[in-house]
Amino acid sequence: ERISDEFKSFLDSGIYRLDGSKVVFVDPVRLLNDSYSRFRISPSSYYSRSFQSTDRRRVVEEVNVPSISKKKRKRKKTPRDLNEREKSAEKRHQQEARSLLLKAHRAFLEAAELQTFLPKLVKCVEFSRGGETEEKNFIELGSCWQAPLYEIGLCFPKSNEGEDSWLANHVGRTVVPLFNNLISHETNDEVEAEFNNSQYILPGRSCFYMSDLRQIRNLIPAKSDQGFNLIVIDPPWENGSARQKAAYPTLPNRYFLYLPVKELAHAEGALVALWMTNREKLHMFVEKDLFPAWGVTNVTLCYWLKVKPDGSLIGELDLFHHRPYEYLLLGYINMENIDSECMPAVNLEDARVIISIPGVHSRKPALGKLLWDHIPGNKPVKCIELFARELMAGWTSWGNEPLHFQDSRYFVEK
Ligand code: SAM
Repeated sequence: ERISDEFKSFLDSGIYRLDGSKVVFVDPVRLLNDSYSRFRISPSSYYSRSFQSTDRRRVVEEVNVPSISKKKRKRKKTPRDLNEREKSAEKRHQQEARSLLLKAHRAFLEAAELQTFLPKLVKCVEFSRGGETEEKNFIELGSCWQAPLYEIGLCFPKSNEGEDSWLANHVGRTVVPLFNNLISHETNDEVEAEFNNSQYILPGRSCFYMSDLRQIRNLIPAKSDQGFNLIVIDPPWENGSARQKAAYPTLPNRYFLYLPVKELAHAEGALVALWMTNREKLHMFVEKDLFPAWGVTNVTLCYWLKVKPDGSLIGELDLFHHRPYEYLLLGYINMENIDSECMPAVNLEDARVIISIPGVHSRKPALGKLLWDHIPGNKPVKCIELFARELMAGWTSWGNEPLHFQDSRYFVEK
């Protein structure tokens, strides 16, 4: 069967452009695999949510009847029941998002070769490494009194320098403090790390700092021309869902005003990408308080539309409390200093839509490749992710659990 160039390029890059590039379907597993050479992300571990959902629903139906009826009550909420803020959220949904997202979803459904391939994308079963021990809870470990004593061992791969040399046969191992410490390595290949009987895979030239928000100032570069050109931020926004509370701690909005985003930005311009949930209160906060505090201007609104392996949306588009989409806001810092020579395609024009099958709760697709043409500064650009739960080749990751998805259970060996 003949396959299109677009599909061929998707198999390689993880990006499928639809509808004149305003809409893209991405496979986050392929996007992440760019960071690895000896390992790959296991698709079945990434897409595990796609397997669980039906089981969970069955369990809920059988065991937890009251919660179902509660859900039904919510569904019945009519426009008349909405308070002022909810009304303005509904208006935003109807006027700005709805038709754009329907059009994007239609374009996605019409890409027949992609639709045929989707089930294979998630069902690709591979046996991952490790996973015998319980997953480490870095948030807990980092906040206990022993935290300063924990160390991680980095095992450097064999050097390629001359086969007879001492280095060639020497597998280096360095032990460094795990928390409140900038851990980076210059190796182009992955480095394997060990902490407390668990193995972690660190992508080439990756760097991380595992700490609480209170230590984030340690990441501020000494000189502003050493700042970051791309800053991706996925804050632990507060939201009512109990499930989220169990997954990780959240922070009140005012804390984010003090994130040193401006201080992290490169003096000659930085692109900021902020993930945002669907609450109207957040829209107002980001527009009126947060972006002005960080000095972010020229903002473009993008959408992340979540689909199931059968191509359908993960929930009804018009269901008030459970929209199948989230927001991604893009903007610039130090815009006035961006060198016109290396001016990126700053004008992102109208909204774009990123479509993907979601991984586990709150896991976002990697953005580096999608935003590449819009990052100001000379290449190689410097990129950082705040509140990260994983590492990427060449990037700096900060958060209280940036090693979370680096556990070897999420990987297969090539
Ligand atoms: N972008 C991530 C991904 O794709 O997997 C998800 C990030 S999640 C929305 C927010 C993260 O912020 C969680 O890992 C959470 O533990 C972390 N976090 C919460 N409170 C924090 C704090 N006080 N300091 C540092 N990180 C914190």
